Amino acid sequence: MDLQLSEEQELIVGMVRRFVRDEILPLELDLDPDADQLAPADSQRLIAKTKEMGLYGLGIPPEFGGPDVDLVTRTLLAIEMAQHRAGLYAPCYGVFGGAGLAQLFEADDAQKEKYLYPTLRGEMRGFFGLTESSGGSDPARAIQTKAVRDGDDWIINGSKIFISGADRADYGLVFARTDPEKGRNGITCFIVETSWPGFHVRRVVHTLRSAHYATELQFEDLRVPHANVLGEVNKGFAIANDRLSRQRIPYAAGCIGVAVKANELALEYAGQRETFGALLSSRQSIQWMLVDNEIDIKTATWLTLEAAAKADRGEPFRKEAAMAKLVASEAGGRVVDRSMQIFGGYGVTKDFPFERWYREMRIRRIGEGPSEVQRHVIARDLLGASLR
Ligand SMILES: Cc1cc2nc3c(=O)[nH]c(=O)nc-3n(C[C@H](O)[C@H](O)[C@H](O)COP(=O)(O)OP(=O)(O)OC[C@H]3O[C@@H](n4cnc5c(N)ncnc54)[C@H](O)[C@@H]3O)c2cc1C
Repeated sequence: MDLQLSEEQELIVGMVRRFVRDEILPLELDLDPDADQLAPADSQRLIAKTKEMGLYGLGIPPEFGGPDVDLVTRTLLAIEMAQHRAGLYAPCYGVFGGAGLAQLFEADDAQKEKYLYPTLRGEMRGFFGLTESSGGSDPARAIQTKAVRDGDDWIINGSKIFISGADRADYGLVFARTDPEKGRNGITCFIVETSWPGFHVRRVVHTLRSAHYATELQFEDLRVPHANVLGEVNKGFAIANDRLSRQRIPYAAGCIGVAVKANELALEYAGQRETFGALLSSRQSIQWMLVDNEIDIKTATWLTLEAAAKADRGEPFRKEAAMAKLVASEAGGRVVDRSMQIFGGYGVTKDFPFERWYREMRIRRIGEGPSEVQRHVIARDLLGASLR
């Protein structure tokens, strides 16, 4: 097993590292500490640059117009892109382009024309609507939103909670129960437009996250054409699950990127700050914090790259993706916490990125499947699918 980056990987990782250092970090000096967007002129200028670099649309598969970059390299790049204050939820403020909703890669041609391509061009925004107030860890059992067939349409009634960005979206994916007898094989995914009668964003849910809000949705006799079923009727849960697993790899990479940057800042500060007549870096208790940071970062990195390598080879990677997400989100939290401690009072000011990372990293142990659910996925793999 070769753990050395290839020449091409070194080159492209170096390009993105310099981009973050030269383009993103200077702009952040003048942005609000909670900002999740650049000024439009800066955004346009930097999008033009990432296009020139051939790296725009990194999350988009090559067959849909994205650059031909394997998942291991994309993971290395995602680690680089997160290394700034907004890096967890707005890596490089989106100037590398978004992938949109990965589930839409499963769409039929008409759906792709109407929703996927405009989203990839940045003209439309979507949301992902799975979680309900009855519980998000086990949506296969918890989903109560119902869709009932009515001629060429379906009528949806129910609600969703914690749905990111639905207040700013043009459409979204709504998972609803279409066969109450069949558990996970009775859920269908619908593409729903936010302007349709019966679709309501009921309220915005404020969380620890900066600027991005989650929302609560309500569907009242929401009429959806049958043509807007994504994939097959009663097969929606498989679509959600498959793509969620793949998304865990870049999710883990974002946590690692922030941890790398937090540790870099802590190392530099410990080498400059004197207390009781000596540098912090000369104290064993501080050294051990830095050592533990390094071990956390390396552990999370190798697990995440292994998951990406397995996915690239076409091997099953569900267990590895769960391990990567679990370890990277928990290790990332520890690294940010220790680095903040090394900075003392300055660590909790808004002059440094730690307080934002500290808040947002906490969500990472819950979003995209909490740590307990990842352990459940791993246990199921170890002990057999019969485990409930
Ligand atoms: C900021 C934010 C944004 C979000 N964005 C979206 C979004 O865009 N779309 C979307 O669909 N969802 C979204 N979510 C929802 C998120 O996926 C859920 O919060 C998450 O899946 C957990 O569901 P829950 O909150 O209902 O917790 P529950 O399912 O009620 O679980 C509560 C706790 O119990 C633990 N637990 C559950 N089952 C077990 C078990 N068997 N053994 C041990 N422990 C267990 C869980 O890990 C959790 O810690 C978002 C959440 C947040 C906070």
